[in-house]
Amino acid sequence: MAELRPESIIVSAGRPEGPGAPLSQPPVLTSTYRHDDGANRYLRNEGSDSVGALEAALGALDGGTATVYASGLGAVAAVIGTLPVGSVVVAPEAAYAGTVALCLNAQKLGRLTLRQVDITDTDAVIAELDGAALLWLETTTNPLLGIPDLPVLIEAAHAAGVRVAVDATFTTALNVRPLDLGADVVMHSATKYVAGHSDLVQGVLITRDAELHEAFVTARRLGGAFPGAMDCFLALRGLRTLAVRFERAQANAAELARRLAAHPAVSRVRYSGLPDDPFHERATRLLAGYGAMISFEVAGTAADAERVCSSLCLITHATSLGGVESLIERRAMHEGDRSLGVPETLLRFSVGIEHVDDLWGDLQQALGN
Ligand SMILES: *Cc1c(COP(=O)(O)O)cnc(C)c1O
Repeated sequence: MAELRPESIIVSAGRPEGPGAPLSQPPVLTSTYRHDDGANRYLRNEGSDSVGALEAALGALDGGTATVYASGLGAVAAVIGTLPVGSVVVAPEAAYAGTVALCLNAQKLGRLTLRQVDITDTDAVIAELDGAALLWLETTTNPLLGIPDLPVLIEAAHAAGVRVAVDATFTTALNVRPLDLGADVVMHSATKYVAGHSDLVQGVLITRDAELHEAFVTARRLGGAFPGAMDCFLALRGLRTLAVRFERAQANAAELARRLAAHPAVSRVRYSGLPDDPFHERATRLLAGYGAMISFEVAGTAADAERVCSSLCLITHATSLGGVESLIERRAMHEGDRSLGVPETLLRFSVGIEHVDDLWGDLQQALGN
């Protein structure tokens, strides 16, 4: 059969095979297995069909071999854990807060040196690569929604002998497959779009490098970040609808970004799908879609922005993203974002799959028409 498109891989990969097999992989809810087949099997060490089915699907989607972890941050920790003591890591100044905290903690313990840089500034990244062991990239910066030039950065890093890992949580494999661009590792917080229902925490690493894959499996076994069978079942069930969920969420986001940009109570909208966004050209060139995250600034004060959040009814005031339901939060309430100079009134809006006019109605009443 011809190579399948992502929408078909999402639906078909990771299903049990063979005569009489169940259509879906059932969650195998056990920690241990009987010895009488001669094997010595324990869930954390050897895994199970539950995690294997999810890994088969996520690996096929990103074009590599997947290792699933009990959280996205567990996956990040596995990548950092492969580095020898004393390594230099180049990472985004606005990386996911947990990733930065993990690296800063490792630096404090004397295990690595962190160089943070604006990854949307290609020359600035290249200037930091000398002597580095790892370049950590994110396909979209958070919460300013800048787009780095992935292919150029990956090529420059490899020319300098630097390994590249890409957190592609915001874009999903549907908008970009970093391994196809030469990245050594792609990471997703499966908590977000992959599982898509805000009902579990999970992460995944995918690589084409057999040695790295082996290291990631070892890191999971020794670090203990093994995912639960029920979470694997739910994540795979959620993944089956990723393409339609993401398509709707992106369409909603494009429309809402346009309407927000014209709203008098909104002073600025950051969304690479808008033609006048500073990252529009780059996103159009590099990504298959503009994503479903919008950041916008409310005209006025932090209190005005907080009031918008607490006045919303359909859109929930909560952190996180990537679920079927729309979520919003004022990012400067987080210390890490405030210290980065994120505008006080900036709201990060994870657009869900509700009807676009209901979302707009909710925004209008909260913004005061
Ligand atoms: C949520 C998130 C993470 C961390 O994932 P968890 O599943 O919450 O541990 C890492 N990177 C990005 C971009 C995220 O949004």
